[in-house]
Order: sequence, then C-alpha cells, then structure tokens
Amino acid sequence: SEELHFKPSISELSSNIHKKLQALSPTLPSPRLHDTAPVSGPLNDPSIVYKIQPRIAFICDNNDLYVTSLYAIWKMGCIAVPLCKTHPLAELEYVLRDCEASLLLSSDNYKDIGHALKQSVGVAHLNVSEFLNSPNSVLNDSKAADNSKWTEEAPVWSELGAMILYTSGTTGHPKGVLLTHSNIRYHIYSLVSEWDYSEADVVLHALPLHHLHGILNILLCPLSCGASILMHNKFEPDKVWSSLLNKHDGNYPKVNVFSGVPTMYNRLLQYYELARYSNEEKEMIKNHCQSNIRLMMSGSSALPDSIFKRWKEVTGHALLERYGMTETGMVLSNLYKGHREPGLVGYPLPYNSVRLVSKDEDNNLNSGTFGEVEEGEIHLYGPGIFKGYWKKPEATQNAFTILNHDKGQLDGPAHWFVTGDIAECRNNVYKILGRASVDIIKSGGYKISALEIEKVILEHSLVSECAVIGVQDEDLGQKVVAIVIPTTDNHELSLEILKNWCVDKLAQYKVPRLFIIKDKITKNAMGKINKKNLANCMKF
Ligand code: ATP
Ligand code: MG
Repeated sequence: SEELHFKPSISELSSNIHKKLQALSPTLPSPRLHDTAPVSGPLNDPSIVYKIQPRIAFICDNNDLYVTSLYAIWKMGCIAVPLCKTHPLAELEYVLRDCEASLLLSSDNYKDIGHALKQSVGVAHLNVSEFLNSPNSVLNDSKAADNSKWTEEAPVWSELGAMILYTSGTTGHPKGVLLTHSNIRYHIYSLVSEWDYSEADVVLHALPLHHLHGILNILLCPLSCGASILMHNKFEPDKVWSSLLNKHDGNYPKVNVFSGVPTMYNRLLQYYELARYSNEEKEMIKNHCQSNIRLMMSGSSALPDSIFKRWKEVTGHALLERYGMTETGMVLSNLYKGHREPGLVGYPLPYNSVRLVSKDEDNNLNSGTFGEVEEGEIHLYGPGIFKGYWKKPEATQNAFTILNHDKGQLDGPAHWFVTGDIAECRNNVYKILGRASVDIIKSGGYKISALEIEKVILEHSLVSECAVIGVQDEDLGQKVVAIVIPTTDNHELSLEILKNWCVDKLAQYKVPRLFIIKDKITKNAMGKINKKNLANCMKF
C-alpha cells in the first residue's frame, strides 16, 4: 500500500547525509581506481591500492538509517564499514583501527559509543539521526524497480571498494574482507534471479547488519528490485512469529520471504513448543505460512536435519539451505523450485566455478576435480570473490592458490580461493562436511565429520544444542568429544542416554569418547561457536 513507501525515498534521504559528508570533507578524492587496480583477481594487500578511498564506519539500529548511511558513503566514493551494534567497545576499536576509518557515523542511540570511540581511537564522529525525522522500520525503495536506480544512482564504478566486512571470527580474529561494487553486483545478479526476488516481495529482516547474510541476501538484493523489507531491530522469537503470521497491531505488509541462521530457527521452534498451541492453532499457523510465504532460507552455519524436519512439520516449508562466505558471497544453494533434502547445500550459484580438491597425507594437493569427488576442500573462482584481506598479506596469500607458489601447478592462470571448508559432491549437489581446521576430526586413522555427529545427537528430543570437537589423544591422535546442551529445564538427559543413542546410530569409531552436558555454549552474533576456544575452555 502507498503509505508504506516512505517519502522521500532512501536515495533522496541518503543525499542529505551525502551533502553533509561532502561539506565535512571537501577534499575527498574523486574515486577513480581504474588506473591503479587490476581489472580482476585478488591483491596481496588491497589496503595499498584502496587506501585512496576513505573508510567510513557506521553504527545504528536496523532501520532505514542503515541503508541511507550506506548509500551516502557509496555516493562519496568511500568504503563502508558497518559495525556490530552489540559488540563490546574493544571489538569496535579493533575494527576502527584495523580499517583506519576516517569517520564514524552513528545514530542518536549510539552517540555515546561514538563519543567513546572518538576519544579512544581518535576517529571523527558524526551523528546522522538529525537528517531523518523518525527512523522507519518498513524499507522500500519504490524508485529502484522502475528507473534501475541501483545502476544509475548508487556508485557502481566496478573496481571501487564498496565495503570492508569483518569475518565472523569463528576461527580466529576477524579479518577485514574488501568487497568491490563489482563483487556485490554479481552477488545481487545471482541471488535475485536464483531466488526469484521481485518488487512484489515483502522480506522479514531480523539478522545483524554487519555480515553478508543480513546485508546482501535479504537487504540489498530485495531493495535492488524495489521490494519491501520489514526490519526488526533485533531477533526476538515472539516478534518474528508475529510478523511471519502478520499479527501486528499496525498496518504492515504481509511477509512472504524470511531468512535466518539455524540458531534462530531453533529458538523459533522452542518458542512454538512452549506456547502449547491447540491443534486448531497449529493448523492455522501452518496454513498461513504455506499460503503466504514463498521462501524461507537458512545459512551461515550448518542446518541440523532435526531443525529442517521440525520446521517443515510446523510451517510446511522445506528450508532452502545455502552456503557462502564473507569472502565469496553465496556460492552454493538449493533450488528455489526443486526438491530440498536436509544436509545438502545444493548447486553452484551463477558466476561461481567450484571445485573440490583433495590432499594427501603430507598436505600436498592431489587433484582438482569438478563434480564427483569423495571428499575435498572447496576452491572457488569467479567475479564475486573479494580482493583480499585488509592489511593481511599473509592471510591473503594463503587463501589463493596462485599466490601460493609452493602449491602452484594446479591452477593455470586463475586465482582459486581456498575456502577451508570440506565437502562432498554427487551429481553437482554439495554436502558440507565442515571446516578442515576444526570439524574434520582425525581419529584412529579415520576422518570424521563433526557435523555428521552433531546432526545425529541433535535428533534426540532431549537435546537442544551440541558441538562436537576433536581433542588431542595419545592413542587415537584425536578423540571425538561432544558438548551437549539439554532442552530447557530438562534434567533427564544423561551421559548414558547420549551414548546409547549414538551407539545405535553411528559407526563405532564415530561415537564420541566423551560427552559433556553443559547449560550453555558461547555463540557469536551469527550464532556460531568458536570450537578452538571451546576446546581451550574445556581444559583437557
Ligand atoms: P572466520 O573466517 O573469521 O573464522 P567465519 O568463517 O565463520 O569466521 P563467515 O565468513 O561469516 O565467517 O562464515 C563463512 C563460513 O560459514 C564458511 O566458511 C562455512 O564454514 C560456514 N557456513 C556458511 N554456510 C554454511 C552452511 N550452509 N553449512 C555449513 N557451513 C556453512
Ligand atoms: Mg572464514
């Protein structure tokens, strides 16, 4: 309905911020990188070439101010660095120092944080709330669809830097990933067509806005075709259910697309169970979801089979699981129109060349194969892949095969990005086995996927969450250890129950040698567990 299209449009509002920024820094360079940046391929250290584009960090709630700030930064030809509003000060300082931000934008509610960061890091600070009357939680760029604003207004000087996003820090300190406008445009082309986004869509957005999942998959993609986005400032299961079922007080559009991380689906299901709906209510919920929602997606970490199955029972939707990384955008996805099976992440998305590479005992590359391979590391090539890690030449070098001369040979002229994730492929459909560094456990001569064991344990009705890790063992090399969290106030779960459950369902060598029942596992903003930290905390 017309009133939902807020006026002026996002683009016009961003112009206000843009003007203010221009007034602040009249000397910012006119951004032309074509002379210096190579047309394609990674750079050893992008900070050397891209330093001519000032970095502008911003922190605000999830509403239109986020998008207007982002567009304004792009209009300036600067690189946007979205900050996580729930990160502690020390984490924000790390990011601001690492990207050497010349300016920090904040909204009213973050102005104290802004001042504190100005003091500690010495970054200039500007409160942008004054440019908006009141933040809006329904976004819609009604202009986008008809005049292809995306290409005309937002600066898409292809090789210009667009964003530095920091990885989730699941395996170490977060790394700054430089994405260009061209990278982002390919991500958008690919997902808009694969997931069938259009102006008619209403996307429910309840994800953090400092990672690609929240920024790209369900914000820039739908905005680029003029769809509407209903933004929640943070994830709250009751509110998400209300929006999914269109049970708001005000006049809101009916949601038809949703995407979340597995932890969110788990918590939505917990809320559903606790509500003890009558059969009639359950039927109504399922009917509403089936007839109004066209697409529900999951990603950012492995979706347990148990959640896939339960979500399908409750809503009638087979979640569309996809796989991607900050460095690459989305890479593999199940089909929008097609059968979806739990545990499979689907086919390569457009513009991505995907190969699986196996390694021998001494870590030498064995083969690079497209298609069928028992098990190998995912390598990628394509126009959506980032330029390199900001000020981390060594990490960048290790991430691309051609830059790594010791490993040479395999590549020809292409720069293949080494993901660190292990997968299997049959008939061009991929299954993620986990991260080479933490999820592939080598025990007694076997290679074991932690994800496979986690999925089996999570099938148990008394289990809420679970993390399987490999712990050093004199006899086996590594032994399999499972840390398990029972469902809410459940005191029946015992080590015995867990062991019997696994013995029945897993080959003997995969059965965890040790089970640990805990109240809680620490997760980051994207619901991910740092398994290295977890192993250290357990103090074996
Ligand atoms: P860091 O690189 O700092 O350790 P991170 O790898 O978790 O953190 P992201 O770029 O946000 O940071 O996440 C990408 C990773 O998430 C992938 O490499 C993969 O391990 C995991 N991932 C994403 N989607 C899926 C999926 N559908 N199934 C399994 N794993 C997934
Ligand atoms: Mg990573």
